[in-house]
Amino acid sequence: MSVFVCGSLHYDVVVDAPHLPRLDETVAGAAVNYIMGGKGGNQAVAAARMGARTAFAGRIGDDPSGAALLKGLMDAGVETGQVQRDSGASGMSVAIVEPDGGYGAVIVSAANLNVDPGLIDMPADANVVLLQNEVPEAVNLAVALKGRSIGASVVLNAAPARPMGPELLGVIDILVVNRVEAADLLAITEANLDPLAAAQALTKLGPRSVIVTLGGGGLVLHDGGTAVHHPGHRVVVVSTHGAGDAFLGALAAAHSRGEGLAEAARFGQAAAALHVSTPIAQRDAITRQKADALMA
Ligand code: ADP
Repeated sequence: MSVFVCGSLHYDVVVDAPHLPRLDETVAGAAVNYIMGGKGGNQAVAAARMGARTAFAGRIGDDPSGAALLKGLMDAGVETGQVQRDSGASGMSVAIVEPDGGYGAVIVSAANLNVDPGLIDMPADANVVLLQNEVPEAVNLAVALKGRSIGASVVLNAAPARPMGPELLGVIDILVVNRVEAADLLAITEANLDPLAAAQALTKLGPRSVIVTLGGGGLVLHDGGTAVHHPGHRVVVVSTHGAGDAFLGALAAAHSRGEGLAEAARFGQAAAALHVSTPIAQRDAITRQKADALMA
């Protein structure tokens, strides 16, 4: 039993500044942080932190940020033998954050767009396969089909939202989206989104089960029968950035060790609550034991 994650790696440069620069303006920033990002990498790290044996497949460039991304995965205990090398640049983003948290960002996908599914050799004992929408859909489809062929449970976090073919949605076991992505997939406005109805409607697109996450409001799970609301934990929030990734990685870890989807989602919510209430520099100290303790 193990978790197999295929997806993106981004090297994120985050700068604090008094305001976003206007055209032709140079602004003096207050601080800079270098953060390993990309939903794929983040979710793999989260699954490994929660105790799952986790392998990651993705693609880095031939540059120092690629080496740093690889080291970040290894330091978290993620198996990196399936990380492909590109002669070009690694994925990256630059974000400028204003004092009130408003931000502007540019993402360059670079090597992430060149993941070659033909090179992916999925471990035979993988029982949960975790995908997101930051690599091409053809990659997700090929990996989902491989997962299906070995009897793994295939989880798609359709983030960011983008149009997806029925072929992909038809081979997904568990679809996980936040409110914005759910509204986008159903072509409705977020203001008009009823999460219970949305989870039900999304199962009609193909997946067996659907989770709509609701930030501090918890989530809605549709796992056959009717959709059910599961409230989140009440915590003092430091930063909600990456909450979804923490949730997905923990959900995959718990599902891989045999927990049913409702129980795995409960564990995911505990891990995500720890994530949002822990300062960024201390998040590698979040463990399965701490998530278990929060649920007790
Ligand atoms: P995303 O980061 O993808 O937008 P959400 O914001 O919906 O995803 O968060 C995912 C999960 O993280 C939620 O279902 C919840 O369990 C947890 N979470 C997010 N924000 C909070 C919060 N403010 N307090 C407690 N838990 C939270």
